[in-house]
Amino acid sequence: MCGIVGYVGEKDAYPIIIKGLQRLEYRGYDSAGIALCEGKSINILKQKGKVSDLNNYSKDKNKKGSIGMGHTRWATHGVPNEQNAHPHLSGDKKLAIIHNGIIENYDSIKKMLLKKGHSFVSDTDTEVLIHLIDDIKNHENCSLFESVRLALNEVIGAYAIIVMEENNPSQFIAARKGSPLVIGIGEGEYFIASDATPIIEYTRNVVYLEDGEIARINKEKELEIKTITNSKISPYIQEIEISLDSIEKGGFSHFMLKEIFEQSNSVLDTLRGRIDPKTKEVILGGLSDYEQKIANSNRVIVVACGTSWHAGLIGEYLFEDLARIPVEVEYASEFRYRNPIINENDIVLAISQSGETADTLAALKLAKDKGATILGICNVVGSSIARITDAGCYTHAGPEIGVASTKAFTTQVVVLTLMSLKTAKIKGTITKTDYHRLITELELIPKKIDKVLKSDNSIQKI
Ligand code: GLU
Repeated sequence: MCGIVGYVGEKDAYPIIIKGLQRLEYRGYDSAGIALCEGKSINILKQKGKVSDLNNYSKDKNKKGSIGMGHTRWATHGVPNEQNAHPHLSGDKKLAIIHNGIIENYDSIKKMLLKKGHSFVSDTDTEVLIHLIDDIKNHENCSLFESVRLALNEVIGAYAIIVMEENNPSQFIAARKGSPLVIGIGEGEYFIASDATPIIEYTRNVVYLEDGEIARINKEKELEIKTITNSKISPYIQEIEISLDSIEKGGFSHFMLKEIFEQSNSVLDTLRGRIDPKTKEVILGGLSDYEQKIANSNRVIVVACGTSWHAGLIGEYLFEDLARIPVEVEYASEFRYRNPIINENDIVLAISQSGETADTLAALKLAKDKGATILGICNVVGSSIARITDAGCYTHAGPEIGVASTKAFTTQVVVLTLMSLKTAKIKGTITKTDYHRLITELELIPKKIDKVLKSDNSIQKI
């Protein structure tokens, strides 16, 4: 889960990119790099280690350019070192690429390119892709936009990429499949990143690229999007609501601590508007058209990974106990590679903080193809899982930057509790008294969390 940041406009790109990479540091990485261009050749700065190491290394180097892109790498092909760090260049050094993900068929493409006389300086799959793009560009004599599109038609795997070229320092080409990319639209400038956190400081207007889409991002032009099969798409610009405070540490020594202390508010936000103040009934607006279908289902299959999978295990207890519906909790990565038995009367419920977890997304697509109703619980509004599911509930936990999940987990469990209670009520598997008792208990949770967190000092002592 490495990071991507790009800027094209009138400002100096370097400080924007470094700051953006720092905002993405929570994702974990082993090396970092930047490509800049001021109309002459593409200038690459890269280092093994932290973004701060890259920044120190770059101190006395040329950092000019109002177009640039930065990357934090999590090595999959080739050891973490400076040579394998991104950006990677084409053989003539006129094109540069950064890439999140894996090109699964890189080896056969590499062999084909080696035969044609290409030579490589890194062990990465990414360098193979930029050579393929360059090869197509030279042989087909087409634009960068078109050559990236044609190259991606030959590629199997997952990617979020940005490509820039020396002769055209006003534009990027970006594309995604299985790895998120967000484009921020400013006045005569564009931002691009693997999530919205590096962008919100500059603009609230964003376009989320969908899988299989490719974009031409030119500071002098409107944003242009196509599918890689060459159909034009009109960009859907949406306004994001994340506040800058929510992605900064706000006086805490690290994000995880801040997020632990945010739990009572996050749970309040999860519950907000979901319990009728007068009747004390559960209201799940996002699921209202599917409530009956859930109640009538033969079973619920939860697909998730990591912490969300653990939330699913608690959901299993809740659903089975309260709503008397059998639940299976599956690791999404196992589920998608088996040949699971899924029926039309099954509900497949995905849980994911980011809404972008690749295995969970793939498991959902599989379930959808088999005719199941697919639902989601996720935190990031407008994320891929939120978009592909038939219906779902947001957790509204606010951005979770810490890698070890805290408030995202707590709020997932709250949503699962609300869903189980609602389903139990519809099915009549819970008494009125128990239903209202549990709802009253649920409403007390934020206060109880606050009380626990107030014992912080004594907990530290222990
Ligand atoms: N597969 C690429 C590499 O090993 C990209 C890894 C990443 O997503 O950072 O360089």
